[in-house]
Amino acid sequence: MFRYCPACASEKIRFEQCRVNCCPECGFTYYHNTAAATGCIIRTNEGLLFIIRGREPGKGKLDLPGGFVDPGEGAMDGMRREIIEELGIDYKTGDFKLFASFPNKYFYKNISYNTCDLFFHLDVPDLTEKDLHPDSSEISAVRFIKTEELELEQIAFESVKKAICIYLDTIYLNKHG
Ligand SMILES: [Zn+2]
Repeated sequence: MFRYCPACASEKIRFEQCRVNCCPECGFTYYHNTAAATGCIIRTNEGLLFIIRGREPGKGKLDLPGGFVDPGEGAMDGMRREIIEELGIDYKTGDFKLFASFPNKYFYKNISYNTCDLFFHLDVPDLTEKDLHPDSSEISAVRFIKTEELELEQIAFESVKKAICIYLDTIYLNKHG
């Protein structure tokens, strides 16, 4: 992913195993490690809460609230922070229930990031659109979608599709089946 070694400027730097940059000239090594990211299925009486992505990758497609976990942050705290930032609503970290994890590739500005996506669910029956203050720099709209009206092909990321399927087959079915 580097054209020149950041340490000695050699052009011989290599990117191997999809994650490690090695310079044979000076021994510089940089691991482009998997990043942790979160997503939350918020269930309300109006349907499942989705955002429409306002930015690439996946601009205009459906996604869950969430994002990258910050350095020094736990996954639950990251999930809580993202929901505050993106939707303007705050729930206790203990309210988020982890139920699935899948890998994803996130392509941004010519760099492919490998992510380990952690998926949570949260039940907020009375939440409606007027409770939300969406961050318009990241989100172009919020949608509440009934499960029977959800079209998986409208979802931006494969990991999110898999998480939704597991959620509907297990957790949602147990409550509403
Ligand atoms: Zn070097």
